[in-house]
Parts: sequence; structure tokens; C-alpha cells
Amino acid sequence: MAAEDPATRRVQVAEHPRLLKLKEMFNSKFGSTPKFYVRAPGRVNIIGEHIDYCGYSVIPMAVEQDMLIAVEPVKTHTLQLANTDPLYLDFSTTANNICIDKTKPLWHNYFLCGFKGIQEHFGLSKLPGMNCLVDGNIPPSSGLSSSSALVCCAGLVTLTVLGLRLSKVELAEICAKSERYIGTEGGGMDQSISFLAEEGTAKLIEFSPLRATNVKLPSGAVFVIANSCVEMNKAATSHFNVRVMECRLAAKVLAKHKGLQWDNVLRLEEVQSKLGISLEEMLLVTEDGLHPEPYSREEICRCLGISLEKLRTQILTPNTQDELTFKLYQRAKHVYSEAARVLQFKQEVWGQRLTTYWSRMGRLHCVPRAH
Ligand code: ADP
Ligand code: MG
Repeated sequence: MAAEDPATRRVQVAEHPRLLKLKEMFNSKFGSTPKFYVRAPGRVNIIGEHIDYCGYSVIPMAVEQDMLIAVEPVKTHTLQLANTDPLYLDFSTTANNICIDKTKPLWHNYFLCGFKGIQEHFGLSKLPGMNCLVDGNIPPSSGLSSSSALVCCAGLVTLTVLGLRLSKVELAEICAKSERYIGTEGGGMDQSISFLAEEGTAKLIEFSPLRATNVKLPSGAVFVIANSCVEMNKAATSHFNVRVMECRLAAKVLAKHKGLQWDNVLRLEEVQSKLGISLEEMLLVTEDGLHPEPYSREEICRCLGISLEKLRTQILTPNTQDELTFKLYQRAKHVYSEAARVLQFKQEVWGQRLTTYWSRMGRLHCVPRAH
């Protein structure tokens, strides 16, 4: 499945009210007819919260809500973006000089992430122009990954306009990397499930190398996803990146504590694999090597033997370099125990005791990952 290209199919637009409406809006916006439509779904995570960017496996599934884009390639090198939601303003740029402003995560920048990702992957200096009308129904900034659905959809739009082919895994990896152009240091879960999801099954997503395995859901189960209506824009605030940086710093301090080469360590999983020990043992290493009180920047510098300047400019991101304190212990404890929960699930699945697991879990509601 994962080695496949994304699926394409012929549809009668007149039989699909959403497509028909999009086609009509496209016509009134651009005075022409879309040549094709691309869609990418949002997701909910079932087990494995905030551990994908630490290198650990996760179990998400796609939701019905998606990003849908009507597309018309044009001969000029102009990229014109419009949105069915008037909140998202029209945008136009020359397709040859893409600039993504990290300081203002406006909606079109997510599209540009996917666009640029494909451009860079193929080393293209010139990209064809296109007119695009975006229609999304994933509640934004609510933890269902509307941002990644938009990045993935834009990547697939660009690939299709170029007439090139990539597997779903390649697309997921490109889009995971390119969404970071917006400034968020995410892992690869959201883009992976957006491309690799299949109807009726969740997926165990594992990294390095990226692979997805079906996780059969209990028949008749209903997943209720509640929207708290509190929005958290991951790129406009530093909350998300602070959490990623806390995990990164915990990984470095733990690596140093265990006498490992810590400079290149970025993820907590790397510390575990370098030590070659279990997740339970990593929890003991965490107890031993970190303290529950937040770490000041100065203490982190002392632990690692580096200057404040190096910490700020070479380890932290632009939107976290002025943070004064970091919770290393809590992050490491969470990541290793959450990774153990996914591993336990995986072993249960492999042991064919899935039904027992689901009933024991007693948790068939999902909490969207807001930050
Ligand atoms: P999420 O949890 O939904 O991924 P993010 O804060 O990462 O939240 O991304 C939300 C951003 O994605 C929005 O601020 C907006 O820029 C973009 N976005 C979401 N839905 C749409 C849409 N329908 N059209 C255009 N952009 C959208
Ligand atoms: Mg997002």
C-alpha cells in the first residue's frame, strides 16, 4: 500500500454536491473550469501523544474532514490561491520565488510549504503556475491537523501539475519536512496518516524508515471526537515548539548524563537506541539523570558545558530561544511511558489479543491534540 502512488479516480462532478459547489465558485473566481481535484484528510491520534517528534511510533487514524482543492494549471508562472472561506484571503505570487514568512503563519504559507517541498525534492528552479481554490472542513487549530492536510494536499497538487510521480511514503516524508518551513518542529505523524490512511482501519505508524501497518478497529466501535472550541495555532504561538525543545534538551542532557556523544542527539528515542535498553529502563535513567523542577537556561548550559549563545542559536528555534525555563523531566517521563503504551498495544496486536486490549482500554473517545 505505502509503496503505491496516491489513488486517482474519475468522478462525475454533478453527482457530488461539494465538488459541484467548488466548481461553480472556481468558475466565478477564475472564469474557468478546474482540471482536477485533490483531497487530503485530517486525523485524530488514538495512542502515542506527542511522541512522533521524539522518534516513537504512534497510532492515528484519518477523519472524514478534509482539505479539498480544485486546480487548473496555467501557462504563466503565477500561483493564484483562493479559499471558499472568506476568512482566508486571496493570495498570488510568482511560482519561481517562493518565500515563506515564519513570523506570520498566514494560510497560504501552508500551501507554499507543500509546493516548495516538491520543488526542492526534484531540484526544480521553475514551477508551472496554477489557479487553486481551497475548501477545508477540518476545524482549524483544534488538534485534527488541518495544517498538515493543507500542506499534504498542496504537495499532491504540485506533483500532479508537474505530471510527476512519488509514492505515498515519499510524499509523506517530503511534506513532514516541508511543513517545518512554517516554523513548527513537528514529527511525521500527521503527514504520514494523511497519505497512508485507509478507510475502516487505524494505522500503526513507525519511523526510520516510515511504515504503516493496519490496526483493525473493533467492529461497531464509535469514536467520539469532541471539539472544545478552544483554538491553538501551533505556528503563531511558541507552545508547541517549547514542548519539542524540552524533549530535545532532555535527550541531550540524558545522553550527556550517560556518557554518550550528545551533540548530534535530537530525539529521546536516539538515547534509548544508543543505550540499547528498554523503555522501562529509560524511565529509570530519567529518574536518575533529571530532576522534576524546571531547568533554567543557565542550568542547561552548565549541564551541557555550552554557552547561552550556543543554546539559543544552535539548539533552540527562533520562537523558543527567549524561554527562561524548560520541563525536561516531565517530558522525558511522558515520552518514554507513552511510547511504552504504544509498544504494549503493538505486542497485543501481534499476540492477537486485540479485543481484550480495546475493552481494557475503555477509552473509545479521542482527544484532538491541540498542543
Ligand atoms: P491544526 O491542529 O488544525 O493543524 P494548526 O495551528 O497547526 O492547527 O494550523 C491551523 C492553520 O491551518 C490555520 O490557522 C490556517 O492557517 C490553516 N488552515 C486550516 N484550515 C484551513 C482552511 N480551510 N483553509 C485555509 N487554511 C486553513
Ligand atoms: Mg497543525
